[in-house]
Amino acid sequence: MSTTAADLKDLHELHRRLQAVQGKLEAGPKRIAAREQIVSKKETELEAARQKQKQLKMTSDQKTLQLKTNEAKIDTLKRKLNEASSNREYEIITSQIEADKVANSVLEDEILECLDGIDAQAKAIEKLQTELEASKADFGQFKTTFEATIPDLQEENDKLRSSLKEAETCIPVSERAQYQRLVAAHSDTALAAVESNACSECYTMLEPNIMVELNMGKIRFCRACGRLLYRE
Ligand SMILES: [Zn+2]
Repeated sequence: MSTTAADLKDLHELHRRLQAVQGKLEAGPKRIAAREQIVSKKETELEAARQKQKQLKMTSDQKTLQLKTNEAKIDTLKRKLNEASSNREYEIITSQIEADKVANSVLEDEILECLDGIDAQAKAIEKLQTELEASKADFGQFKTTFEATIPDLQEENDKLRSSLKEAETCIPVSERAQYQRLVAAHSDTALAAVESNACSECYTMLEPNIMVELNMGKIRFCRACGRLLYRE
Protein backbone atom coordinates (compact mmCIF):
# COMPACT_ATOMS: atom_id res chain seq x y z
CA MET A 1 0.00 0.00 0.00
CA SER A 2 1.30 3.46 -0.81
CA THR A 3 0.42 6.75 0.77
CA THR A 4 0.06 9.72 -1.53
CA ALA A 5 1.56 13.10 -0.75
CA ALA A 6 -1.92 14.59 -1.09
CA ASP A 7 -3.25 12.27 1.66
CA LEU A 8 -0.50 13.37 4.01
CA LYS A 9 -0.91 17.02 3.13
CA ASP A 10 -4.64 16.75 3.91
CA LEU A 11 -3.82 14.98 7.16
CA HIS A 12 -1.41 17.77 8.10
CA GLU A 13 -4.01 20.40 7.27
CA LEU A 14 -6.56 18.64 9.50
CA HIS A 15 -4.07 18.64 12.39
CA ARG A 16 -3.50 22.37 11.90
CA ARG A 17 -7.20 23.16 11.84
CA LEU A 18 -7.87 21.00 14.90
CA GLN A 19 -5.03 22.70 16.75
CA ALA A 20 -6.43 26.14 15.85
CA VAL A 21 -9.92 25.21 17.13
CA GLN A 22 -8.51 23.70 20.32
CA GLY A 23 -6.37 26.79 20.78
CA LYS A 24 -9.49 28.97 20.67
CA LEU A 25 -11.35 26.71 23.09
CA GLU A 26 -8.44 26.82 25.55
CA ALA A 27 -7.63 30.52 25.15
CA GLY A 28 -11.21 31.68 25.87
CA PRO A 29 -11.39 30.69 29.56
CA LYS A 30 -7.86 32.05 30.16
CA ARG A 31 -8.79 35.41 28.67
CA ILE A 32 -12.03 35.44 30.69
CA ALA A 33 -10.07 34.71 33.89
CA ALA A 34 -7.64 37.53 33.07
CA ARG A 35 -10.55 39.97 32.75
CA GLU A 36 -12.10 38.70 35.97
CA GLN A 37 -8.80 39.37 37.70
CA ILE A 38 -8.82 42.98 36.48
CA VAL A 39 -12.32 43.42 37.97
CA SER A 40 -11.20 42.01 41.31
CA LYS A 41 -8.07 44.21 41.31
CA LYS A 42 -10.21 47.32 40.73
CA GLU A 43 -12.57 46.27 43.54
CA THR A 44 -9.61 45.93 45.91
CA GLU A 45 -8.23 49.33 44.87
CA LEU A 46 -11.64 50.95 45.32
CA GLU A 47 -12.06 49.42 48.79
CA ALA A 48 -8.57 50.65 49.75
CA ALA A 49 -9.40 54.19 48.57
CA ARG A 50 -12.67 54.14 50.55
CA GLN A 51 -10.86 52.96 53.68
CA LYS A 52 -8.23 55.67 53.26
CA GLN A 53 -10.93 58.33 52.91
CA LYS A 54 -12.74 56.98 55.99
CA GLN A 55 -9.49 57.11 57.96
CA LEU A 56 -8.88 60.72 56.88
CA LYS A 57 -12.42 61.71 57.91
CA MET A 58 -11.90 60.14 61.35
CA THR A 59 -8.57 61.94 61.78
CA SER A 60 -10.14 65.22 60.67
CA ASP A 61 -13.05 64.76 63.14
CA GLN A 62 -10.65 63.98 66.00
CA LYS A 63 -8.53 67.04 65.26
CA THR A 64 -11.61 69.28 64.94
CA LEU A 65 -12.80 68.07 68.35
CA GLN A 66 -9.34 68.74 69.77
CA LEU A 67 -9.43 72.24 68.27
CA LYS A 68 -12.82 72.95 69.90
CA THR A 69 -11.56 71.68 73.26
CA ASN A 70 -8.49 73.91 73.00
CA GLU A 71 -10.60 76.93 72.09
CA ALA A 72 -12.79 76.35 75.13
CA LYS A 73 -9.63 76.06 77.21
CA ILE A 74 -8.37 79.38 75.83
CA ASP A 75 -11.70 81.04 76.75
CA THR A 76 -11.39 79.70 80.27
CA LEU A 77 -7.80 80.97 80.48
CA LYS A 78 -8.89 84.41 79.26
CA ARG A 79 -11.45 84.61 82.07
CA LYS A 80 -8.76 83.58 84.56
CA LEU A 81 -6.53 86.31 83.15
CA ASN A 82 -9.05 88.95 84.29
CA GLU A 83 -9.08 87.44 87.75
CA ALA A 84 -5.26 87.18 88.01
CA SER A 85 -4.12 88.36 91.42
CA SER A 86 -0.44 88.92 90.57
CA ASN A 87 1.80 89.80 87.65
CA ARG A 88 3.44 86.41 87.92
CA GLU A 89 0.07 84.65 87.59
CA TYR A 90 -0.86 86.96 84.68
CA GLU A 91 2.35 86.06 82.82
CA ILE A 92 1.86 82.32 83.35
CA ILE A 93 -1.71 82.45 82.02
CA THR A 94 -0.66 84.61 79.06
CA SER A 95 2.06 82.17 78.06
CA GLN A 96 -0.42 79.24 78.38
CA ILE A 97 -2.83 81.05 76.06
CA GLU A 98 -0.02 81.66 73.55
CA ALA A 99 1.03 78.00 73.65
CA ASP A 100 -2.56 76.89 73.07
CA LYS A 101 -2.93 79.31 70.14
CA VAL A 102 0.20 77.88 68.52
CA ALA A 103 -1.13 74.34 69.05
CA ASN A 104 -4.44 75.36 67.46
CA SER A 105 -2.73 76.88 64.45
CA VAL A 106 -0.88 73.57 63.91
CA LEU A 107 -4.19 71.70 64.30
CA GLU A 108 -5.87 73.97 61.73
CA ASP A 109 -3.12 73.22 59.21
CA GLU A 110 -3.46 69.51 59.87
CA ILE A 111 -7.25 69.66 59.46
CA LEU A 112 -6.86 71.48 56.13
CA GLU A 113 -4.42 68.81 55.02
CA CYS A 114 -6.96 66.11 55.94
CA LEU A 115 -9.71 67.91 54.02
CA ASP A 116 -7.47 68.11 50.93
CA GLY A 117 -6.76 64.38 51.31
CA ILE A 118 -10.50 63.63 51.57
CA ASP A 119 -11.11 65.57 48.34
CA ALA A 120 -8.28 63.77 46.58
CA GLN A 121 -9.66 60.40 47.72
CA ALA A 122 -13.13 61.37 46.49
CA LYS A 123 -11.69 62.00 43.03
CA ALA A 124 -9.72 58.73 43.14
CA ILE A 125 -12.87 56.84 44.21
CA GLU A 126 -14.86 58.34 41.37
CA LYS A 127 -12.15 57.38 38.85
CA LEU A 128 -11.90 53.85 40.24
CA GLN A 129 -15.68 53.43 40.15
CA THR A 130 -15.69 54.34 36.43
CA GLU A 131 -12.80 51.96 35.79
CA LEU A 132 -14.50 49.19 37.75
CA GLU A 133 -17.72 49.58 35.76
CA ALA A 134 -15.74 49.51 32.50
CA SER A 135 -13.80 46.40 33.51
CA LYS A 136 -17.02 44.66 34.59
CA ALA A 137 -18.63 45.50 31.24
CA ASP A 138 -15.57 44.25 29.35
CA PHE A 139 -15.53 41.02 31.35
CA GLY A 140 -19.25 40.40 30.85
CA GLN A 141 -19.18 41.17 27.15
CA PHE A 142 -16.12 39.03 26.48
CA LYS A 143 -17.57 36.10 28.45
CA THR A 144 -20.93 36.28 26.66
CA THR A 145 -19.30 36.56 23.25
CA PHE A 146 -16.94 33.66 23.90
CA GLU A 147 -19.63 31.44 25.37
CA ALA A 148 -21.78 32.03 22.29
CA THR A 149 -18.98 30.65 20.09
CA ILE A 150 -18.43 27.47 22.16
CA PRO A 151 -21.12 25.29 20.50
CA ASP A 152 -19.76 26.07 17.01
CA LEU A 153 -16.18 25.52 18.12
CA GLN A 154 -17.09 22.24 19.77
CA GLU A 155 -18.98 21.08 16.70
CA GLU A 156 -16.01 22.02 14.51
CA ASN A 157 -13.72 20.21 16.94
CA ASP A 158 -15.83 17.01 16.75
CA LYS A 159 -16.03 17.16 12.96
CA LEU A 160 -12.29 17.64 12.63
CA ARG A 161 -11.60 14.76 14.99
CA SER A 162 -13.72 12.37 12.99
CA SER A 163 -12.22 13.63 9.70
CA LEU A 164 -8.80 13.14 11.22
CA LYS A 165 -9.59 9.57 12.24
CA GLU A 166 -10.61 8.82 8.69
CA ALA A 167 -7.62 10.61 7.17
CA GLU A 168 -5.23 8.71 9.45
CA THR A 169 -6.13 5.46 7.69
CA CYS A 170 -3.71 6.56 4.95
CA ILE A 171 -0.87 5.76 7.37
CA PRO A 172 0.15 2.09 7.01
CA VAL A 173 -0.53 0.06 10.15
CA SER A 174 3.21 -0.64 10.53
CA GLU A 175 3.89 3.10 10.89
CA ARG A 176 0.82 3.97 12.98
CA ALA A 177 2.54 3.75 16.38
CA GLN A 178 5.39 6.02 15.29
CA TYR A 179 2.86 8.46 13.84
CA GLN A 180 0.85 8.50 17.09
CA ARG A 181 4.00 9.20 19.09
CA LEU A 182 4.77 12.13 16.80
CA VAL A 183 1.25 13.52 17.16
CA ALA A 184 1.43 13.18 20.95
CA ALA A 185 4.72 15.07 20.99
CA HIS A 186 4.18 17.70 18.31
CA SER A 187 0.43 17.80 17.52
CA ASP A 188 0.03 20.01 14.43
CA THR A 189 3.73 19.88 13.54
CA ALA A 190 3.95 16.06 13.61
CA LEU A 191 4.11 16.19 9.82
CA ALA A 192 6.48 18.30 7.74
CA ALA A 193 6.33 19.20 4.08
CA VAL A 194 9.47 18.82 1.98
CA GLU A 195 10.51 22.17 0.59
CA SER A 196 13.50 22.51 -1.77
CA ASN A 197 14.59 18.97 -0.81
CA ALA A 198 14.68 19.89 2.89
CA CYS A 199 12.48 19.14 5.89
CA SER A 200 10.38 22.28 6.44
CA GLU A 201 10.42 21.74 10.21
CA CYS A 202 14.18 21.54 10.85
CA TYR A 203 15.57 22.58 7.41
CA THR A 204 17.81 19.51 7.17
CA MET A 205 18.55 18.53 3.54
CA LEU A 206 17.13 15.12 2.66
CA GLU A 207 19.18 12.40 0.96
CA PRO A 208 18.26 11.67 -2.69
CA ASN A 209 17.08 8.13 -1.84
CA ILE A 210 14.57 9.54 0.70
CA MET A 211 13.21 11.83 -2.00
CA VAL A 212 12.89 8.88 -4.36
CA GLU A 213 11.13 6.78 -1.72
CA LEU A 214 8.74 9.60 -0.85
CA ASN A 215 7.96 9.85 -4.54
CA MET A 216 7.13 6.15 -4.54
CA GLY A 217 4.55 6.69 -1.82
CA LYS A 218 6.59 5.30 1.06
CA ILE A 219 6.34 6.65 4.58
CA ARG A 220 9.59 8.34 5.59
CA PHE A 221 10.56 10.30 8.68
CA CYS A 222 13.09 13.13 8.88
CA ARG A 223 16.36 11.70 10.22
CA ALA A 224 17.11 14.90 12.10
CA CYS A 225 13.82 15.84 13.76
CA GLY A 226 11.74 12.68 13.22
CA ARG A 227 8.80 14.42 11.51
CA LEU A 228 6.65 12.46 9.07
CA LEU A 229 7.62 13.85 5.67
CA TYR A 230 5.50 14.49 2.60
CA ARG A 231 6.15 16.21 -0.71
CA GLU A 232 4.33 19.42 -1.39
ZN1 LIG B 1 13.23 17.57 10.14
